[in-house]
Amino acid sequence: MRIIATVVLGACAFSAQAPKRTVTDAEVQKVHKSALVLDTHNDVTSRTITGFDINKAAADGHTDIVRYRAGGFGAQFFAVYVGANYVEGNGSAHRAMEMIDTVRHDIIGKNPKDFELALTAADIVRIHKNGKIASLMGIEGGHAIEDSLRLLRNFYALGIRYMTLTHSNTNNWAGSSGDLDGRTKGLSPLGKDIVKEMNRLGMMVDISHVSDKTFWDALAVSSAPLLASHSSCRSISNIPRNMTDEMIVAMAKKGGVVQVNFGCEFLSQKSAKTSNFGNPAIREKVAAAMKNFKGTLDEQRAKMREVIKEMGLKTIPATLADAVAHIDHIVKIAGIDAVGIGADYDGVDCVPEGLDDVSKMPNLTRALLENGYSAKDIRKIYGENLLRLMRAAEQAAQH
Ligand SMILES: [Zn+2]
Repeated sequence: MRIIATVVLGACAFSAQAPKRTVTDAEVQKVHKSALVLDTHNDVTSRTITGFDINKAAADGHTDIVRYRAGGFGAQFFAVYVGANYVEGNGSAHRAMEMIDTVRHDIIGKNPKDFELALTAADIVRIHKNGKIASLMGIEGGHAIEDSLRLLRNFYALGIRYMTLTHSNTNNWAGSSGDLDGRTKGLSPLGKDIVKEMNRLGMMVDISHVSDKTFWDALAVSSAPLLASHSSCRSISNIPRNMTDEMIVAMAKKGGVVQVNFGCEFLSQKSAKTSNFGNPAIREKVAAAMKNFKGTLDEQRAKMREVIKEMGLKTIPATLADAVAHIDHIVKIAGIDAVGIGADYDGVDCVPEGLDDVSKMPNLTRALLENGYSAKDIRKIYGENLLRLMRAAEQAAQH
């Protein structure tokens, strides 16, 4: 997830690119059902931790069980997100434990007919076959382990299967893309030991949010392929959170996968320019207004929208075609085995029309079919590539 919100005013213009071929509803359904739809980043945890009931169809947000079922979901990695504000006073591990509990207790525990905890790639396949949504956890923000390999191992034992080495804050051992200072920093010796320990455990090394230098260090150190759980292409939308072509190609050569983020500013340069990501003036004003703000994530977002609105700004939304363009680009430069979906639902405010929430995934299936992707390609994008990466992480742990 990201902290700073963007605001969407007015209706999104649904992109109407001429399809390469005509696709029937029956074909969309058939192909969609044949895939294991797996998404590697969802922040509904920031809502369930303050009481949101995922089993109630909600009018707001992006995620609930009804919409998951409509979207044909097979597996979800839930974000165990720890904000940078927990670093002060050493509250990061405490927060991570509470976030793990909201996945295990509020999401899975209270809804056993719909969700089941998955710890391995084999679990994902088995749970999906049984008609439930395989539920996994990834830590977002490496500061959660409070510089301790012992805590890292405990988090693995509780079910954490990936960790982003940083969030938007640089921590004591890894530089982040989210602060100017951190962009010059990579992995410290401790950071390299942490990556090696993640390899030894079989926890996927997630480079979403890290600085470019941290990325290259992690690529050199990791014995397992890298994961980008929710990042898109910088050559299309030039923001530090996205990946350069060089990074995507290098990561793919080692078996890594880029899971495309659906946030408008990740997908479209036009959107980025009207958000904190691509516009430093917005970033500064929002950061100043948010400095001592306390409250729930939803309250924070409302406050941030207010600030941006006061600046008289309108975010230009991205389109479904923009999402397809990122998938096309990764396939073109790195191959069909290098791309997946990490939508960041409930972690971003602006998503493209047609991909408004988790229920809308069949629209992407249709768009991919119209653009010439085969059923086999779509199955790779939706889950098989990530399953391959997870199996490789599991195998690396045995050596
Ligand atoms: Zn994030």
